Amino acid sequence: MMERVTDEPIPTGIERATLEREIAGGFPLLKFTRQLETAFEQEVMGDRCRQLVFGGLFGILLYDLFLITDWLISPETFTTALWVRLGVVTPIALLLIASLYLNPTVGVREFLVAAGGVVLGAGSLLYLMLISRSVQHDAQHQAIILILLFVTMVQRVRFWWGMAACLACFAIHAIGLALMPAYSFEFRISANTVFACAVVLTLFASYVLERETRMNYLLSLRGRFQRRDLDMKSHRDPLTGLRNRRSLDEAIETCDQASVGGEELAVVLLDIDHFKSFNDTAGHQAGDVCLKRVAGIIQSELRDYSDDVFRFGGEEFIVILRGINMPMAVRISERIRCAVQDASIPHPALPTGEVVTVSLGVASAFLSREIRVGLVISAADAALYSAKRNGRNQVAPRLPIAEIVEMPDRKVRALS
Ligand code: GH3
Ligand code: MG
Ligand code: MG
Repeated sequence: MMERVTDEPIPTGIERATLEREIAGGFPLLKFTRQLETAFEQEVMGDRCRQLVFGGLFGILLYDLFLITDWLISPETFTTALWVRLGVVTPIALLLIASLYLNPTVGVREFLVAAGGVVLGAGSLLYLMLISRSVQHDAQHQAIILILLFVTMVQRVRFWWGMAACLACFAIHAIGLALMPAYSFEFRISANTVFACAVVLTLFASYVLERETRMNYLLSLRGRFQRRDLDMKSHRDPLTGLRNRRSLDEAIETCDQASVGGEELAVVLLDIDHFKSFNDTAGHQAGDVCLKRVAGIIQSELRDYSDDVFRFGGEEFIVILRGINMPMAVRISERIRCAVQDASIPHPALPTGEVVTVSLGVASAFLSREIRVGLVISAADAALYSAKRNGRNQVAPRLPIAEIVEMPDRKVRALS
């Protein structure tokens, strides 16, 4: 079973640069930098434990099926084999599997898998081989190779633990052969050579598998970074860096969905005064620079609410302030207006000394099924219109929406 990497958000503290360095470096020792290693182990933990449980149960079943060969090869020790396999190894192995549900640390988990396989599997096979009086031991010592394969390929114990397990299996195999007087020296050399080759090949495969698993994880992380960047790009206005219209639509939808609880919300619509003539006189590029500056000023004045500033279009911006009442929204708007004026951006089309200013329309409401964000925006728009009509460079508050809705003639104005 492959370790599936979940499509979770990017783990905190992981930098894109660290990730790219790790991918380029190739992690030959199968170890990431500390934070990446922690994130990797945390994300694959659930799947890894499930894989170990299923693999473990499957392994126990196969292991116990070898009772048939015990009975065929060495019927005189069959009762002992029955006890060893069903009375000792199987219950201990089941306990080890159950311990995986206690969320052991990575080191303890991998140790239990490796040591469990070697001591219980290979150790019990060695024991049964030694007590057997049959001369047909080949099947038993060859079965130790299966333990090796099980630990490294089925349970996919982490490579370094796999190496320790393989060496222990080799030692058990070699000791087993050495203690068998019936085997010639040449046979032992030959059998140990075959086993050693099995160890080398298995470790090679284990290394490649773990490296692939780790690389898959890094690539999935890279994918998450790329998706996040794309998402950022599709929700940001490239000129000002503020959130764009699409982002605003999503924010409106979220507010509307949450509006059942009657949340208070204020909307500030901001428009740069005489911006067309600014562009016409100083050029579009200078206009862009001015737009960026104004956007920066709005954002810096909002501080805590900076996430809720959007470029509404052209030289218009919209600020959505959740949980803010009208007097507070007017104060914030006034602060923005003063900040833009105080920035003293010269206006090339106005008499010397005149600077870039903004007009702001403010509206607020307690959201409900009838009063949606769209309505509050329309009210703010109407307020902005009166700010322009009354001479620009000012904040125009709108009546609370509730009153507008109650008075049909005003409602029409608010929506127009
Ligand atoms: P008012 O005080 O009534 O708002 O007058 P105004 O000239 O600002 O209003 P109007 O809506 O007529 O002009 C908006 C101008 O904004 C038109 C266009 O030249 C400029 N504009 C819109 N988008 C951009 C942009 O992305 N970059 C630049 N440089 N200018 C833009
Ligand atoms: Mg405009
Ligand atoms: Mg304007």
